[in-house]
Amino acid sequence: MERLLIARYGEIFLKGENRPYFERCLENNIKASLSGFSGIKYVKDVGRFYIYPGENCIDDIITQLKKVFGVVTVSPVTAIASNMDDIAAAAVAEMESVLSSVREDIRLAFKINTKRVDKSFTLDSVSISREIGGVLLEKFGDRIYVDVHTPEKVIDIEVRKNTSYVFSDKIPCPGGMPVGCTGKSLLLLSGGIDSPVAGYMAAKRGLGVDAIHFFSFPYTSERAKQKVVDLLSLLVPYIGKTRMFVVSLTNIQKQIRAKCPEEFMTILTRRFMVRLSNAIAEKYGYQALVTGENLGQVASQTIEGMTVTEAISKKPIIRPLICFDKTEIIDIAKKINTFDTSILPFEDCCTVFQPKHPVTKPTIEKTEEAESFLDCDALVAEAMENIEIIYPKANSI
Ligand code: ATP
Ligand code: MG
Repeated sequence: MERLLIARYGEIFLKGENRPYFERCLENNIKASLSGFSGIKYVKDVGRFYIYPGENCIDDIITQLKKVFGVVTVSPVTAIASNMDDIAAAAVAEMESVLSSVREDIRLAFKINTKRVDKSFTLDSVSISREIGGVLLEKFGDRIYVDVHTPEKVIDIEVRKNTSYVFSDKIPCPGGMPVGCTGKSLLLLSGGIDSPVAGYMAAKRGLGVDAIHFFSFPYTSERAKQKVVDLLSLLVPYIGKTRMFVVSLTNIQKQIRAKCPEEFMTILTRRFMVRLSNAIAEKYGYQALVTGENLGQVASQTIEGMTVTEAISKKPIIRPLICFDKTEIIDIAKKINTFDTSILPFEDCCTVFQPKHPVTKPTIEKTEEAESFLDCDALVAEAMENIEIIYPKANSI
């Protein structure tokens, strides 16, 4: 008898010709996610990975797998030789463990669910279920009874060629696509609630996520910047290895304030964010930008505002949260543990220069007119000269 894990993947299995590519991507991500453990062994099979834990605690490994996109469920299983005696012994052990957390005066409704993958096995699946069910009833008869329609617990038996598996748990994992398999994106990461959630959502659909953060020292503090590094670190268990480009907007914002109509401050700042993000994307090979924008949330997040910022982007801008309610975004932020850090009260470069009455329905013509007082190319080139790259550590394993 050996305890190990089966990690199952779903959607990527459907991807026809690209399947080996997605599988390799997932395998690498699982290995990277578990790289903090030593002595783990992996065996790939159709639609699943067998993970042999070595000396490590199985629950710790499961905690990590719950953050790997592409993994749909994971089960701790007992592996035995494919014969009825060993299967029965494993099923008894499994039921013992199930009953250890059930009150003694409660009788548990159970069912055996057998999948016979090896069709040459002597008994068919119904007979295996019946026989093993009988063994369990004999052993634990006063504590369990069979209910095939509404069981409280299902003991699964999978009979394969040489090895069979017994388990009673299918723990949900995040699903989605393996990070990195659909492309490389640059996440515009502020210190707010939304953009970390947007990064999480983008990664869930397989995008690699590196970040770009704009700050305006001395109007925004070092501590505000550190908060964003902390947020990115909190995403590392989900998005994997990442880095953050930190770009100063101080001079650009000063120039806008000095030379352009006040009500265009926010929209012009956002256009520079998009220009600079495009410049980084071009230089470092990102295919798309990701933002935490959300329709109607603030003045710059109107269709008109987005039209004007998008107009100067060569890369597609992905807005995973565009149609979410704030409560839905907050629920995810709490789930992924970024919420408490996001609400720490530090300034953002957008808010320090906020106009009293920002334009909510800018047009491209009016915006270009407001911008005509600036040498945009020179300002972008200057900001690109002093870029810092930060490699955050994962702070939650
Ligand atoms: P968030 O909660 O993500 O800050 P928000 O609701 O506060 O979003 P805005 O401040 O208008 O909205 O920002 C919209 C989006 O623009 C953010 O989600 C983020 O993607 C990007 N953004 C805003 N400020 C910055 C910044 N300082 N650095 C990088 N990206 C930023
Ligand atoms: Mg913000």
